[in-house]
Amino acid sequence: MFNKRVKIKDLLQQDANEQEVTVMGWVRTFRNNQFVALNDGSTNNNLQVVLELGKFDEELLKRITTSASLKVTGIVLPSQGKGQKLEVKATLLEILGDSDAEKYPLQPKKHSLEFLREIAHLRFRTNTYGSVFRLRHALAFAVHKFYNEKGFLYLHTPVITASDAEGAGEMFRVSTLPFDNPPRNEDGTINYKEDFFGKATNLTVSGQLEGELGATAFGEIYTFGPTFRAENSNTARHLAEFWMIEPEMAFCDLEDNMNLAEEFIKYIIRYAMEHNREDLEFLAQRLADEEKQLPQDKRSELGLIEKLEFVVNNEFERITYTEAIDILLQSPAYKKKKFQYDVKWGIDMQSEHERYLVEKHFKKPVIVTNYPAAIKAFYMRQDDGCEPGRETVAAMDILAPGIGEIVGGSQREERLDKLEQRMKEMHVPAEDLWWYLDTRRFGSVPHAGFGLGFERMVQFVTGMGNIRDVIAFPRTPKNCEF
Ligand code: ATP
Ligand code: MN
Repeated sequence: MFNKRVKIKDLLQQDANEQEVTVMGWVRTFRNNQFVALNDGSTNNNLQVVLELGKFDEELLKRITTSASLKVTGIVLPSQGKGQKLEVKATLLEILGDSDAEKYPLQPKKHSLEFLREIAHLRFRTNTYGSVFRLRHALAFAVHKFYNEKGFLYLHTPVITASDAEGAGEMFRVSTLPFDNPPRNEDGTINYKEDFFGKATNLTVSGQLEGELGATAFGEIYTFGPTFRAENSNTARHLAEFWMIEPEMAFCDLEDNMNLAEEFIKYIIRYAMEHNREDLEFLAQRLADEEKQLPQDKRSELGLIEKLEFVVNNEFERITYTEAIDILLQSPAYKKKKFQYDVKWGIDMQSEHERYLVEKHFKKPVIVTNYPAAIKAFYMRQDDGCEPGRETVAAMDILAPGIGEIVGGSQREERLDKLEQRMKEMHVPAEDLWWYLDTRRFGSVPHAGFGLGFERMVQFVTGMGNIRDVIAFPRTPKNCEF
């Protein structure tokens, strides 16, 4: 058997028991022809492997270069060196794969995140990305654990869809038609009847509509999968391909929905804090070092871990959209004309407005509810008793410090007549969504759900400023490497 090895993370938790072990990993550094810092990706802590002077062949020693892969068998001994309680004194050493140190792009020094993005195929081998991706894993696992414990069914909704009901113009077309000479209708438009699926299809922007079909049978479901948006926004929080978690619950109103979202976010943060403490501490230090270079007033008041502790231990603020607009109108920022975009009832709040509410005014996550119907999707439940001209829907967005919108959700319109009327007003073709409307025809129930952008959540927990640094291989406008 080849893979009879201990992981370095597990080994470092043991005592220096003088037993023989085999470890495998990649060389981080090699000092004095004696000390190898070996890393196997299970932790940022390297294992010190000690090579007794004179015991190993000169030719072999020369091949121990940065990022060469090694198999080492040796005895676990107490370490003489500082910063580690044990080390492995090698009895056998095998080079599994050489690494040309001259050509290896990752030198043992500090590289910028921008540079590391260009070598995303190797960046997992750095401490920063090691911690980020172990945390991403922990959060993903916690998502499933949370919903499983609550009895939600994990529904796999399709990646290819024919309903472009949601984000017209922002979808990636899926087609096997020839680009240079597609079949055309008499009026010159492309004839998608000839296409693979016999109709125009796209990559999904959300699994919600299908999720609602599941919820109205299973009661409570969630999806967790990739979603795609062809929006040309080159920001630090938008990707063209990102992962979304979308729970959908029957017999549930807006308040239940908010309660679930808040509980969910706190649960997965707590999970990461309990299970990935070391990685969080590493990233907290990284962030603190980065912020030292900022002027005092640009630095965060709380460190990363204090921020997370604050979030799990305090209730999210809950305000209506109308209250949010009033706060903005009363704000010194508005009065001093500090906002670039105007504020009045009816606007789709810009990121500067959301940041003001969350970072300046409340200094904690904020759930904003009951948005104007005109700026929200057709399926959101229309609020009863609105003033004419001030129609709102049972929507809720959760805004997080440093990130902005992290969750978007709503109670869904379960009344068939109201839904159909709204679709007409918003030019959503009812004939394409006959199956969706059937849920309102056959045992309709009050139901609600939301979407949490997974990468934004990972950003929040890791403190990484750019969303491209929390997904393995980011897809953004003009960039699809790896
Ligand atoms: P934003 O206003 O930030 O673009 P949105 O209103 O388009 O967000 P929704 O359609 O409500 O977002 O999507 C649900 C969640 O998915 C958002 O709250 C956010 O966390 C995440 N999200 C949306 N678009 C992106 C994107 N392009 N990249 C990464 N995450 C996204
Ligand atoms: Mn968007």
